[in-house]
Amino acid sequence: MPAIAPLLRQVGDFDSMRDDLNATLVEDPPAQMSDGGVIRPESDPELSECVALRTDARSRLSALEQRERERTGIKTLKIKYASTFGYAIEIGKSYTGSVPEDYVRKQTLTTGERYVTPELKDLELAISTAQARQERLEQRLFNAMLERIAARADELSSAAGAVAQVDVLSSLAQCAAERGYARPAFVEESVVAIEDGRHPVMEAVLHANFVPNDLHLRAVEHRFILLTGPNMGGKSTYLRQAGLLTIMAQIGSFVPAKSMKLGVVDRIFTRIGAGDDLASGQSTFYMEMAEAANILRRSTLRSLLLIDEVGRGTGTLDGLAIAQAICEFLVGLEEQSPLVLFATHFHELCALAEHWNVVANYHITAVENTARGGAPVFSHRVQPGSSSRSFGIEVARMAGLPDAVIERAQEIADALSGEADIETRVPLRKKMPKRPEPERQLSFLQH
Ligand code: ATP
Repeated sequence: MPAIAPLLRQVGDFDSMRDDLNATLVEDPPAQMSDGGVIRPESDPELSECVALRTDARSRLSALEQRERERTGIKTLKIKYASTFGYAIEIGKSYTGSVPEDYVRKQTLTTGERYVTPELKDLELAISTAQARQERLEQRLFNAMLERIAARADELSSAAGAVAQVDVLSSLAQCAAERGYARPAFVEESVVAIEDGRHPVMEAVLHANFVPNDLHLRAVEHRFILLTGPNMGGKSTYLRQAGLLTIMAQIGSFVPAKSMKLGVVDRIFTRIGAGDDLASGQSTFYMEMAEAANILRRSTLRSLLLIDEVGRGTGTLDGLAIAQAICEFLVGLEEQSPLVLFATHFHELCALAEHWNVVANYHITAVENTARGGAPVFSHRVQPGSSSRSFGIEVARMAGLPDAVIERAQEIADALSGEADIETRVPLRKKMPKRPEPERQLSFLQH
């Protein structure tokens, strides 16, 4: 409430503007001004006349017809529309001798004559121009209304800002109450400690199936977490979750966790996913490196770094070398080291923890399920220690790669994990197996 009360005071009194809008605009205006019917006819006498002309055209013509019958005494007199020259008064042959002097003959028919009068012409003009006049008038009245509103633009924008803030605060409060969020505690030292943290968006989709995880990053002794684990294990989710919870805490929200302790971070740097900007000459790997360079140059000891799979867009050797050098650089900053969450499939990097006591290995577990042909079962649980497997081939099978490709990949992987080098033990295949039939491809997708 202390945050909301001053915001509410910022919202001025707009009763007169509301009354003006209500009096000027129809209840349910059309989407476009050009459709007409946006402005209440009763708000302006001329507009009201135009609208009445359009809607009452028939009854006005009938009234004129009736008056002319009475004036001429010709009971069969009719006003009709002729496509050649518009509205006309039609009089049967036997009465043409008794038409008044102001009748102007326009057409002779076998059955009689057609005439116009100045009044009929005026009425016709008024009807045919009413639509255009209505559009012009409505636009003018609408613009005048906009000017009246614009005169209070500053007040309006300050009120809109206040309402937006109340909206954000109340939405965060509602989420916190409905989804069991906790109030984060802020501390002086550089730390991100989360107990049973949940990804707020994924939790909203997966509900109880979302697996909460802890995170303990602490400036002095535990500032670099190297996260390994299988593909599809949940590494990216875990990194994003850490970033989201930190942002939520720092904007004043409760967080989806059992508890969270946070030393305010100055920035969150991320290197996540693949992107390119070919038009400005930046390939995917170039951009990955440019992002990494920015992180290494600009992060401070109070920054949180979320680095997901750096060094994947180049040759394995170069990639691993770059990834390791980046880790060493960050850890080597010592007291200036930021807090780092580093997810990787380069399991070789886990050895860093043996040399640097600020580096801690964590992994996400998965077990092979022999009942499902070796497909991994993911726990999505982050635990201390490193993992040695990525289950890449099994995940590729789950994603629908043809059996022939999977079997061959397994063969190559088995050979590569042995002693001899690739050229001697994995001769290239000269003849590739046939592409599977379309129905078979479909069945891969269904798994
Ligand atoms: P890769 O290495 O293949 O990029 P990854 O380890 O980064 O994979 P994520 O992309 O984070 O994995 O997660 C894969 C899927 O696992 C998610 O789409 C989600 O369905 C599920 N998942 C991730 N984390 C959790 C969790 N904590 N609880 C439940 N499901 C999760």
